[in-house]
Amino acid sequence: MTRSGIRAAVFFFNPNIHPAEEYIRRRDEVLFYAAKHGADILPSRYDPDQWDEAVKGLETEPEGGARCRVCFDGRLEESARKAAESGIKVFATTLGISRRKNLDEVNAAGVRAASKYPTTEYWAINWRKGPGTRRMHEISKEENFYRQNYCGCRHSIPS
Ligand code: SF4
Repeated sequence: MTRSGIRAAVFFFNPNIHPAEEYIRRRDEVLFYAAKHGADILPSRYDPDQWDEAVKGLETEPEGGARCRVCFDGRLEESARKAAESGIKVFATTLGISRRKNLDEVNAAGVRAASKYPTTEYWAINWRKGPGTRRMHEISKEENFYRQNYCGCRHSIPS
C-alpha cells in the first residue's frame, strides 16, 4: 500500500531497451523506488528479439515515427494484459511524461490495448499538466536517478 492509501503496482515491461545492461540499470532503479514506496511489483519478461521482430522494416524511422507507434502498442498491450490478469482495474503509463513523446499517440495506444479487456481501463492522464513535470524533476534530483541520454532502443542511441 502506498502512502496515499492507493494500492499501486509497477509493471516494468520494456523489451525495446538495448543493450541488456541498460535494461537492467533502468529496471533496477524503478523497482527499487517502487519497493521503497510500498508498491507491488508485477513480474515481467525481457524479450528483445520479439521486439526486434515487431519493428522489422521500421529501423530507420525517426524517433516519433511509425516504429514508436508499434513500440507503444506492444508495451501497452502487454500492460493491459497483465493488469487484467492481476485484477487491476485501472492502468496508466509513464511513457507520456516525456515531452519527446506524442501524448495523443501514447494515450490512443493505451485505450486500444484496454479495449481488449473489459475488466480494466486505461487512465489517459496528462502527467505533464500542472506540477507534473516539475515534480518529476524534483523526485529525479532527490533520488539521484540515473538519467539516460536516449529513449531506449538501439535505433535511438545517439551516434
Ligand atoms: S525511440 Fe523509443 S519509443 Fe521509439 S521505438 Fe525506440 S524505444 Fe520505442
